[in-house]
Amino acid sequence: MRIVLVGGGVIGLSIAREFHKLGYETVILDKNKLGKGASWVAGGMLAPQSEGLKPGIFLDFCLESRNMYEKFAREIEIDTGMDVGYWKSGIFCPAFSIEEKEKLLSNLETYKNIGLSGKWIDRSDLENIYPSLGEDIIGGVLYPDDAQVDNRLLMEALTHYCNINNIKYYENTKVDSILTENGRFKAVKSGDLYVDGDICIICAGAWSGELADIPVFPIKGEMAAVDVKREDIDKVFFSSKAYLIPRKDYSRLVIGATEEKVGFKDGNTVKGTLQLLDGLLKTFPHMINRNLQELWFGYRPATPDLEPIIGESNIKGLYYATGHHRNGILLAPITAKVIVDLIHKNKKSKYLEAFSYERFNQ
Ligand SMILES: Cc1cc2nc3c(=O)[nH]c(=O)nc-3n(C[C@H](O)[C@H](O)[C@H](O)COP(=O)(O)OP(=O)(O)OC[C@H]3O[C@@H](n4cnc5c(N)ncnc54)[C@H](O)[C@@H]3O)c2cc1C
Repeated sequence: MRIVLVGGGVIGLSIAREFHKLGYETVILDKNKLGKGASWVAGGMLAPQSEGLKPGIFLDFCLESRNMYEKFAREIEIDTGMDVGYWKSGIFCPAFSIEEKEKLLSNLETYKNIGLSGKWIDRSDLENIYPSLGEDIIGGVLYPDDAQVDNRLLMEALTHYCNINNIKYYENTKVDSILTENGRFKAVKSGDLYVDGDICIICAGAWSGELADIPVFPIKGEMAAVDVKREDIDKVFFSSKAYLIPRKDYSRLVIGATEEKVGFKDGNTVKGTLQLLDGLLKTFPHMINRNLQELWFGYRPATPDLEPIIGESNIKGLYYATGHHRNGILLAPITAKVIVDLIHKNKKSKYLEAFSYERFNQ
């Protein structure tokens, strides 16, 4: 059985790896290089609690994937011999005002009621750990189970996995159309190239809406990175101003992210860069003289309710695994599991109904 994957981001490559392990023939087509879409751009936070997600099926989905991550990361490291920078350092959410403190405490209470961990830390206790903390920070909530992965290392490792296992892929190959026959998936077409198969999965990130009748659109995010020292920060800081992600090897501090519905409008703006750097300096003013390493941007694959679209389409053999918005790095392991279980075992997870494209057709 041949599986055709349109899009080689974290979602496509994670699915390809699972199918390969089960002995399926897998072909990936990407209009760019593998792994250079949103999955390259992201912060790599595994942060359902820091994101403040409300209790419900989407939070359950995110928590289940967070629980899978350590094993997912370790297995990829064993398969490829490459480090993916998984780091369960916890994520700290600083409060810059009384209103923010109240909101954080209310989220903390909600999470405690459903058995999740977290704790409030006063500014006086923080000052012992971070002597140069921004003066407006009054305290914050630590979520010890939120984590991070270095998404660029992860994309390099998943690409390497394809290379060492002879998973076939076409780069710089934009799929123009999906061909069907008698209501069934037949092939994808890219210029003169036809790739046929039994199953096709659209995992084309923010561009998925160009290939199928699903409401997926881009939400642009700008990012920056600066030099960092071990004594600056020991975990991710996630606030209303910015999130600050020290990589496990302290090669850089990743600062994110802006959010704008401007379509595909490439480039880093002065406004976006100022917002990110202001977030850094409001948190750690002493970092003003650090070297700026890089500015970059990308597109989150969003849907109208900001939750993903996963499962079979109205065309037999054509599936969706897209629309992961702010949490696609986090959701890669569970998405791959749900899709592979559906196709391989006809096992219908409860998440398929919740994340069906059909919810937008009512
Ligand atoms: C600024 C920013 C910060 C983020 N931070 C986080 C975070 O901290 N944690 C987290 O979990 N998530 C984060 N995300 C979200 C996460 O990056 C995405 O949800 C995730 O990467 C989506 O993965 P994907 O594989 O669906 O898409 P992508 O990685 O974009 O991959 C889609 C691929 O499809 C290809 N493609 C598109 N159209 C076609 C076509 N017609 N033919 C062939 N190929 C095609 C593209 O070239 C691309 O390689 C962030 C996103 C952004 C933009």
